[in-house]
Amino acid sequence: MAEVTSPVVDDKPCFKTNPGIFKLGLARQHILAHDIGQGSQCRNESTCKCEGLDLHFWRKMCKNCGCRMDEHDVVLPNEFDHAQIVIGRLFGVKEHFEKVLTKPGMYKPTDQNDENNMMSRRSQPTAVYNYKMSSSDSESEKDAPTIKKDKVQYAWAPLPDKDLVSRYMKCLPEDERPLVGSKGEQNRKSRLQFQLPLYDCNVEDARFVEEKDVKTLQKFVENVRNNVIGVGRVVEIGKDSDNYGDDSNDFEKSMNAALKGLQVGETDCKDCSKIMKNGEIGVECHHHTKTDTYHPNCFRCETCRQLLVDNIYFFYKNKYYCGRHYADQLYPRCAGCDELIFANEYTFAEEKSWHFDHFACFKCDFKLGGSRYMTRDENPFCLDCYMKHYAKTCDTCQAKIGPDEKRLNYNEIHWHAEEKCFQCVQCHSNLIGKKFILKNHKLLCSSQCKANYNSSHPDDQL
Ligand SMILES: [Zn+2]
Ligand SMILES: [Zn+2]
Ligand SMILES: [Zn+2]
Ligand SMILES: [Zn+2]
Ligand SMILES: [Zn+2]
Ligand SMILES: [Zn+2]
Ligand SMILES: [Zn+2]
Ligand SMILES: [Zn+2]
Repeated sequence: MAEVTSPVVDDKPCFKTNPGIFKLGLARQHILAHDIGQGSQCRNESTCKCEGLDLHFWRKMCKNCGCRMDEHDVVLPNEFDHAQIVIGRLFGVKEHFEKVLTKPGMYKPTDQNDENNMMSRRSQPTAVYNYKMSSSDSESEKDAPTIKKDKVQYAWAPLPDKDLVSRYMKCLPEDERPLVGSKGEQNRKSRLQFQLPLYDCNVEDARFVEEKDVKTLQKFVENVRNNVIGVGRVVEIGKDSDNYGDDSNDFEKSMNAALKGLQVGETDCKDCSKIMKNGEIGVECHHHTKTDTYHPNCFRCETCRQLLVDNIYFFYKNKYYCGRHYADQLYPRCAGCDELIFANEYTFAEEKSWHFDHFACFKCDFKLGGSRYMTRDENPFCLDCYMKHYAKTCDTCQAKIGPDEKRLNYNEIHWHAEEKCFQCVQCHSNLIGKKFILKNHKLLCSSQCKANYNSSHPDDQL
């Protein structure tokens, strides 16, 4: 029979009050622009039982299982390839992509690029979508799941050159190869959604930009188009591809290469610094006057280290990022709806930024601005929801213990830290701060009281 000292009374109220509220925005009703992916299966099958994606009206999160939208296997109609939409918008070829190229096909830049536009100095997208090639072109993919046994199909390929494509794919980890029907294709879809949020690059998709901030978003997008976004080109090192190498940077590069004893065309990977020999496959970026070369598997976002999806990069301060992490350096991102915040005033709580309206209870969406809230698994909850779903029950009075009530915990059993809830069941003496005996959920002050209890309760022996 163990006699233990009463645990220390925990009297710190565990609620918090939002520190960063400046004002409360007006509630606006938003209709979901498109019901993309409703009903898609959640990929975290092992841990969650989701009946299919049911998107919350502003969180990019599934109401059924609580996982993010991109954690679901969102199957887009064929003509709705996320990458094509982003490329279309940001490279100013929206019409081309969304009208002409709705069928599987490829995009090749035309010569009509504005000479003064910096875009013309950068690599243009030359992607091929739903690209079929025979498996002899690509030996290592023989066992991959495909519709026809002798054909492989890539959801995306960097260029229409079967030899280069197959060599390029071999440089990538197997689960990153966007082979139709494979894990790699799913991975590509997740990366597209994660790295290239559509609402970052298009005013119509940003649902929570206030009227007065629309211009800021437009300027942001304009700058991305003109100075930031680009696509890495897949090349064979040493082979003179289309002549981009017409500027001083390339001269400098070949001088440096010569100093290191490299042959013409050889260079080192900007990421891992290993030498890339002639004949190897590389990803080259011609950004402004710079040329950088990477191993295909080294061409990753500086922040999240994900492989840059479809080789689409955002160039910032001499580094290459995915769209999400480029934008995150310029504007705060709402932890609720995932959109960028252009307003000067917003809520900062729990080390995260939120639109005023989106700092809300994770269960009932009650706006928490200025009210007391609790956090659980990094999500904020209103007190009502917290009490209903998470508050502990007092073992004596069976009432919930409020977040600002003093409490006692012992071996996962909880009590109000009050005399009426933490007293000897026999002599009713207050046990707070004293030694006690716990038996069958009954509190006792001494073995004497235990004996007395047992003799007066023949049917309830402790
Ligand atoms: Zn779900
Ligand atoms: Zn889920
Ligand atoms: Zn490398
Ligand atoms: Zn990133
Ligand atoms: Zn938001
Ligand atoms: Zn709530
Ligand atoms: Zn109680
Ligand atoms: Zn007693």
